[in-house]
Formats: sequence, C-alpha cells, structure tokens
Amino acid sequence: MSEQSPHDGGCIFCRIIAGEIPCQKIIENQNILCFLDIGPVVVGHSLVIPKRHIRNIFDMPSEVAAAVAYELPALARAICAAVEAPACHILLNSGIEAMQSVHHAHYHIIPRKSDDSFFVPWRPGKLETQEAHNLISKIQKNYENMDEGLSA
Ligand code: AMP
Ligand code: ZN
Repeated sequence: MSEQSPHDGGCIFCRIIAGEIPCQKIIENQNILCFLDIGPVVVGHSLVIPKRHIRNIFDMPSEVAAAVAYELPALARAICAAVEAPACHILLNSGIEAMQSVHHAHYHIIPRKSDDSFFVPWRPGKLETQEAHNLISKIQKNYENMDEGLSA
C-alpha cells in the first residue's frame, strides 16, 4: 500500500476540506472534519473524515485511525442528543464491494430510533469450528506479517 499525499485534487472530500466545495460543517480540528451527509438516511446522519487523503481502512495509518476514533464518542453523543436518538451506527465502508462510493475514508454516524425508517439487512449464518480455526490461523499469520510502515 503506497504512501499517499495529504490531499487529492480530484477527491470531493479533499475539496470540501480545502473549502472549494461547501458542506454543512459541524466540527473541525487539525485532524478531522465532521459534517452532515448530503443524502441523509435518517435525520442527523453525519460524516467524520480525516483531513489527510486516505482512501479507506486498508490504507489508514494507525495514528490517523486513532485521531479520528478519538473524536467519535463525543461526536456520536452530541449528534444523537441533538436528534433525541438513543442509539447509532458507526459505519466505515471500505472498498466498492462494501458500498464505498467516495474514496476518502469516512465514518458515518447514523442516529437510530426504534420507530425510524432505516433498515439494515443482516442475516446471521453459522460459524463452523474447523472453518473458524483455519480462518483464524490465516488471519494471525497475515497480522504477524503486516508492514509496520503504515504508521510512518
Ligand atoms: P459511502 O457510500 O460510504 O462512500 O458514503 C458516501 C457518503 O458521502 C454518502 O452517504 C453521500 O451522501 C455522502 N456525500 C457525498 N458527497 C457529499 C457532499 N458533497 N457533502 C456531504 N456528503 C456527501
Ligand atoms: Zn480526499
């Protein structure tokens, strides 16, 4: 995974950060920008983005992940309180197959209420023991071999 420049002129979220495209800004600091989603699935649907152009979770250095995650609890509390929602999803789509459409990493904060209209289809399968063991050993090997360069 290659080192990326802080900004990408063709990226809509980098252009929002640069002030070239307007957004409904909630909070900004040196690391992150939080703004209302232009196509909210529920009232209060917001996005939190790193100011550095990072495509998705696979390319995200740990310190960028930490800086964004640091802000999530207070933002989730503030947003959900504003719309009187007792619950929320924090969602980071990474890759086209996972429905990522804007390729600048962003966490969705989606407030939830018992009577809202948002629906997440989630059909649990069954975890087979042998399959689980094989999978875990693969993941552990991959994890041990991870580049350490990402957090540079
Ligand atoms: P995703 O499918 O996870 O990549 O989500 C991209 C999100 O960005 C969608 O929910 C869009 O509605 C939102 N979005 C795209 N362009 C803008 C924009 N200019 N301002 C605010 N939100 C946007
Ligand atoms: Zn970008």
